[in-house]
Formats: sequence, C-alpha cells, structure tokens
Amino acid sequence: MVNCTTVEQSYISLLKYCKTLKSVKQVHAHLFKSGIDSDTYVTGNLILHCAIIISDGLHHAHSLLLHFSNPDAFMFNTIIRAFSGSDNPHESLTTFINMRRNSNNLQPDSFSFAFVLKSVANLRDFNTGIQLHTQAIIHGLDTHLFVGTTLVRLSHNGCFNEAFDLFIELQRVGLKPNEASLTGILSVCAQAGAFEFGKILHGYIMKSGFTSIHTVNNALLDTYSKCGNIKMARLVFERMPSKKTIVSWTTMMAGLAMQGYGEEALELFHQMEESGIKPDGITFVSVLYACSHAVAGKWKNVTTVRKSMNSQRLTKSPGWSMVEVDKIMYRFVAGDEQSEANASLEKIMLRLRVEGGYAPEVFGSVLHDIEDEEKENAVVTHSEKLALAFAMSRLCEEKVIRIVKNLRVCKDCHMVMKLVSKIFKLEIVLRDRSRFHTFSDGGCSCRDYW
Ligand SMILES: [Zn+2]
Ligand SMILES: [Zn+2]
Repeated sequence: MVNCTTVEQSYISLLKYCKTLKSVKQVHAHLFKSGIDSDTYVTGNLILHCAIIISDGLHHAHSLLLHFSNPDAFMFNTIIRAFSGSDNPHESLTTFINMRRNSNNLQPDSFSFAFVLKSVANLRDFNTGIQLHTQAIIHGLDTHLFVGTTLVRLSHNGCFNEAFDLFIELQRVGLKPNEASLTGILSVCAQAGAFEFGKILHGYIMKSGFTSIHTVNNALLDTYSKCGNIKMARLVFERMPSKKTIVSWTTMMAGLAMQGYGEEALELFHQMEESGIKPDGITFVSVLYACSHAVAGKWKNVTTVRKSMNSQRLTKSPGWSMVEVDKIMYRFVAGDEQSEANASLEKIMLRLRVEGGYAPEVFGSVLHDIEDEEKENAVVTHSEKLALAFAMSRLCEEKVIRIVKNLRVCKDCHMVMKLVSKIFKLEIVLRDRSRFHTFSDGGCSCRDYW
C-alpha cells in the first residue's frame, strides 16, 4: 500500500472510468497479465469499485474477495458494507463471520461492526444484534454510536420492545449510556408513547448529571410531549439548566399545539422571539399548527364550493391543509374547486410527469397506512396538493412553502412533494398529524418513515 507505484496508481485511475461490469473485468484481465492482481491495494480498490459503484457488480466483487489469497480488513468491510444495503443482508453477516474465521487472524474494526449491525437491523435479527454488540464491547470499540443508531433503526421498524430490551441488556453487560444512546432510546420512547420507561430514564438522567446536555434535554422534552404529558414536558423545559436552543422552544411549542394548547404555544412563540432566537421553518409550522386549534375564525377561507360528499364519504375528521401566502392563511379541503389552485396543479403535474417520471399511486396505495377514520376521499385531489399548487401560483420570490395538514400525508402526495422540491427547486415544510416533513432536492427529512 505504501509503495504504490505509478503503474498501480494508473490502474486505479482507470477504474474510475469503468461504468460497467464488463469494463471492470477488462481492467482486471490487464492486472492479471501484469501480475498486479496480487496487490492488496489495487485489488481492494477493484472490489470497492465493483461492489459500490457498479450496479450489478456486487456478486463479482464478492467472488474477487473469496478468490483473493490474502484479503485484508478493507476488502472484507467493503463487502460487508455492500451486502448490508442489498437485498441479501444476511450475506453481510456471513461475510463478517468469514472475516473472523480467516486464517490471517483479521480483527473486525469499528467499520465492520457498523456495517454488519446495519444489516442485522434490516434483518430484524435482534438476538444476533445483541451478540454483536457484546462482541464489539469485548473488542474495546466505542459502541455508543452504534447503539444509538441501532435503537433508532429498531424503532423505525416498529420493534419498540426489542429496542428497550437491547438498552437494558447493554446496561447489564456493563455499557453505561451516553448522550447518543440516551437520545436514541428517548426517541424510541417518544415514538412508542412509552411514558413509564421515559420516566425511568428521566430519573437516571438526573442522577447521572446528563441534564446539562442540550440534546438529552430536548429528547426528554420531546418524549414527554409525544407521550401526551404536557406537564412533565413543561417541567423539563422550564428547568433546563443551560440556554434553551431553538429545538427546545420548537419542541415545546409543537407539544403544546398538538395537545390543543394553541394560546400557550403562541405565547411561547412571543417569548422565544423576545429572548432573541429567530424562528426557522419548523418553528413557524408549529405556530401555524397551534393557530389551527385556536383562532379558527381568523383565516381567509378560500374554500368556495366543496365537492358534494355523501354522508358515507364524509369522514370523522375531513382532511384539510393550510398554507400561508402574504401573511394570510388559506385553507383547502380535498376536492376543492378553487380554480387558481386547480389550474396551477394541472401545470405542476404535467411537469412532474414529463420531467420527474411521475406516475400516480394506484387506488389501494393512496390509502397506504392510513387508518379508516383518516381516509380522505381517494378519488378527489388531496388538500395538501391544492395548498401546494396555490402557494406556488402566488409566490414568486419565496423558496420555502409551509403547509400544515390535519391528517397524515398519503404516499402519493408525499411523492409529489419530493418531486416538486427537486424539479421546482423549492423547499416544502409539511407538518402532518404525525410529524414534520421537510422536502428538498427530491428527498424528505422523514426518509419515508411516517
Ligand atoms: Zn394525499
Ligand atoms: Zn416525509
């Protein structure tokens, strides 16, 4: 590796131009002819390029590793990493085991553990996860970060109990929680609504002096407000020993707003401004949400004709979305015939089809993951699309559009928002019933979990 000659270097540069498996194999044939194919550094790069850059190259990369006489940790890690994100995450685990059995006495490092834990989380293989964590501890690696990430991954997959068990098991084997694992487990509590477990953690946090850490405090605050205990949330907020960050203020406001304490949330907003902290997009949307519960009469409602809905179609809580344009709140419901919004939406959708390859979600998945009482009428246009289109037709300078929606956003609207953010180069902040979505450059902050 250290004595890398120019010949080897030029092969590596050449690799960068290889876009297909065929061309990689050609380079490999040259390496073979010149006898460089036994060079660890060059082959390591070959495997990396093949496994990560070439879309169908993972299988070939794997066989290169298997046939290389003297593989090093870099090669193994590359394959463990590539399989962890593939359709065969169990191959990542097999490679990890092979690495340990390798005659070269290779030791897994923090990368090997990070990648293999990712695949174990994808496989939802909880027992193996615990074994790996224990091994990582034995190897003296700083596992805190892995713990934090794994906890969050488990909770994203809905494995709340597994996440709690993992956390408890780690205390048992002697791993003391730190900032990363504490915020990780608190976010699990927040998502699961695990109030009692959150209280136990709160006690631990106070005893161990973690109350001086912003992120831990904010996570605790979020846990209490998502668990619906606004009193405890307030207590944490008021007793924060250090200066409150914008995250603290916004979390508290969102918590109040979601519980229907609109006035209190607004009050807090003014206090925050007085304290010299400037609100960002997310704060602003929290305030909008608060307003939706408090000052119902103040909006200029552009709803003109609402599509006739028979009593069967009418849901318990009809979907609506609000958007602010020039300091006026506009409110839309599904199927609104507001002509400006509809005309603008038609143009937008055309561009999405042509430039973004958009195809609407079929009927069934429009209702993806949405409970019965929340279902909006699937055959009419959802309110958030109308709100978006209306704002886009009115705003010329503004590059951020903020929408509040009372129900959860559906898969199709979510896709449309992502595409719009990319094609029209806009940022969209959407607060739906369960979370904030910040769409920019074709992606969403929720990473498609909601
Ligand atoms: Zn929708
Ligand atoms: Zn999202």
